[in-house]
Amino acid sequence: LGGSISRALQQMSNATIIDEKVLNDCLNEITRALLQADVQFKLVRDMQTNIKKIVNLDDLAAGHNKRKIIQQAIFNELCKILDPGKPSFTPKKGKTSVVMFVGLQGSGKTTTCTKYAYYHQKKGWKPALVCADTFRAGAFDQLKQNATKAKIPFYGSYTESDPVRIAVEGVERFKKENCDLIIVDTRGRHKQEAALFEEMRQVSEATKPDLVIFVMDSSIGQAAYDQAQAFKQSVAVGAVIVTKMDGHAKGGGALSAVAATKSPVIFIGTGEHMDEFEVFDVKPFVSRLLGMGDWSGFMDKIHEVVPMDQQPELLQKLSEGNFTLRIMYEQFQNILKMGPIGQVCQLPANLPLILMACFNFSKLDSSNPKLMNESRILRIARGAGRPVRDVMEMLEEYKRLAKIWSKMKGLKIPKKGEMSAL
Ligand code: GDP
Ligand code: MG
Repeated sequence: LGGSISRALQQMSNATIIDEKVLNDCLNEITRALLQADVQFKLVRDMQTNIKKIVNLDDLAAGHNKRKIIQQAIFNELCKILDPGKPSFTPKKGKTSVVMFVGLQGSGKTTTCTKYAYYHQKKGWKPALVCADTFRAGAFDQLKQNATKAKIPFYGSYTESDPVRIAVEGVERFKKENCDLIIVDTRGRHKQEAALFEEMRQVSEATKPDLVIFVMDSSIGQAAYDQAQAFKQSVAVGAVIVTKMDGHAKGGGALSAVAATKSPVIFIGTGEHMDEFEVFDVKPFVSRLLGMGDWSGFMDKIHEVVPMDQQPELLQKLSEGNFTLRIMYEQFQNILKMGPIGQVCQLPANLPLILMACFNFSKLDSSNPKLMNESRILRIARGAGRPVRDVMEMLEEYKRLAKIWSKMKGLKIPKKGEMSAL
């Protein structure tokens, strides 16, 4: 996708005369690419119309940055689609909230419920899981297994077949236990869809959730809009989580889900594991959708922030794709203020400090963070005068960044001055 968009922009910028036809050809090419990324046809068409209104042919003809102008216009339009204009209900720590998960079977509800609970638990919340999927054999076991692994209290039944009853019992119990985030997992598709929606409505009426989250598999394609709309019409969907973003899908369906539910995407799922879960951020998502990857902004920042004489070396390392703790460390040193990694990847603010403390103390440089055992972590923490939790968090962050970094492997690294290209 990125390839065909940048090709289209390239062709246009090579044209000596930019007239309406050249712009149209370019937009058609981009339209095709966005459709391939599962952005809904209507959204793409509206976007195309808007861009034609925004982009001034005279500006294009005169300026050198034709690609940048168009790119920016597309980028902004896509960001606008992802912004429903009002934030979703956000649970507050220490106050009881009930959050209900809905979505088709297999979309990732049960997995995502646990991720959502775990995410909050790590931040000091008291979450709890309720399994209101009484239909599918094994549903309760799956939730129980996940919950046990994360040490999160759960409620469900092997024998009770009424999901409403289970949901109400679970919610009541955890309210009594002062849990502040009570998460209700529901059933996916029934043989008859109408029955699924009816059941969802009943569970929702009985538990009165503060927030209903619609979980959508990113690989669902053009069906996303209709599916999201069908759910919205049955229950008061207030937020969206898009799963399986680690797969091949570009996730253009997320735009449809937002448009159909008028609710924001709040998280994305990026793997089967509990911690493969990220806060959704519009701009990196759109970059990825356009094939610009996280690295476009990243590269801009490198040029801005990393001292000139260090750039070739860093870019070399970047293209080799081996992300070491030393690179992380050097990056933090360079850019404690506003580093590319920090900005693009949303680092917790005190992370650089933790890494510094650990790094100064031990030979982190030569060790493989993936192989660190408990006693090593303990020693590092003690030596650096930091809680073990800090060191663990830092290593987690390392793994996350290493993943992003490895995606950049083998990229052709643009030199300064070439940054107007996609
Ligand atoms: P449910 O039927 O909606 O409850 O879906 P499940 O939570 O049971 O998930 C269905 C399958 O998708 C399981 O095999 C999960 O491990 C998998 N899954 C869920 N989320 C993700 C994700 O973000 N990435 C990947 N790769 N797999 C996921
Ligand atoms: Mg399930």
